[in-house]
Amino acid sequence: MNEFDFIRQLRDQTRSRKTSPRLIRGIGDDAAILREYPGRDLVISTDLLVEGADFHRDTTTPRLLGHRALAVSLSDIAAMGARPLWALISIGLPESAWESNFKDEFFAGYLALADRYGVTLAGGDISKSQSIVIDSIVIGEVNAGRAVLRSTAKPGDQIFVTGTLGGAAAGLKLIELGARLSIDSRRQEADGRSEFDSDTSDDNAIQSLLLRQLSPQPRVGWGVVLGEEHLATSMIDLSDGLSSDLRHLCEESNAGGTIDAASLTLDEDVKHLCGRRALDPLALALHGGEDFELLFTVAPENISRLPKRVDGTPVSRIGEITGQTGVVRIREQNREWDLPARGFQHFSN
Ligand code: ADP
Ligand code: MG
Repeated sequence: MNEFDFIRQLRDQTRSRKTSPRLIRGIGDDAAILREYPGRDLVISTDLLVEGADFHRDTTTPRLLGHRALAVSLSDIAAMGARPLWALISIGLPESAWESNFKDEFFAGYLALADRYGVTLAGGDISKSQSIVIDSIVIGEVNAGRAVLRSTAKPGDQIFVTGTLGGAAAGLKLIELGARLSIDSRRQEADGRSEFDSDTSDDNAIQSLLLRQLSPQPRVGWGVVLGEEHLATSMIDLSDGLSSDLRHLCEESNAGGTIDAASLTLDEDVKHLCGRRALDPLALALHGGEDFELLFTVAPENISRLPKRVDGTPVSRIGEITGQTGVVRIREQNREWDLPARGFQHFSN
């Protein structure tokens, strides 16, 4: 049984039980939706980060880890079209991390990102454990009924994605190949910047990609705009990888999707570095995870209302929702074929 089979089984078990009518949406989306009071819905997401599975202590910094823990949950709240407001964080730490400056650096990174988006740390828990375990919860708010689900895409809707693809997966590959953050990058991340100047030397490209993996930038502004302006008909964030996340969205919507290979915006640094390192940029963009961009659909009549950029991040139109349930295809020039879901999953079989 893989991760998604198990989640489906849990979802069926909760459905057959008595549930609060104020739970608008439970298991199955990027976050749960609760009716707070008439007119307002709460959106809540939790993410677990485990040392050895989700990160390695020796290839990141405590500060980046704090940033990342909050960023991944902010991304899920953005994927619901909600505004993040409160957060809780629980951490299990080995004695060695407790005795070092780990916890101070971790919270410096966490709180710097929280401050950037006006998110208040409202609580958490601390325990001793063998390795580092982090549970990050973020709570956001939307006007009642305005949360953007995975399950409401319609045939004919156009598929969009924010920013660029493949950078985080390339960063992970580089780490696996032995690349490490430079002293300069460690300093840059302290300023909350993850982009380098337009210098395209290999070293800068490598450092940018490492930060793309280790310091994801959640698309909070886009999430709020798409939700408040009622622009997206459905949305998911790209955590597992485009091929898998588009499939999740299509399956939840009882629809299909076709994307154009040529319209995918590949990360510039990935294109710059790939050839020489036997990495295929298109494969990284399609199947590599953790870009934490937003994948969303827009009804044709609303496309002209989409902003060109939010917080400096553009969007690209990459394809269209079809009526063929569960069929995800990719088109390249005159050829078209099925796009297998090859993104990340825990407990794959
Ligand atoms: P994401 O990648 O957006 O964080 P996941 O793939 O982790 O989403 O989860 C998909 C859905 O399954 C979510 O609605 C999540 O709340 C639910 N889910 C995952 N793990 C559990 C669990 N242990 N118990 C209940 N629901 C779960
Ligand atoms: Mg998600």
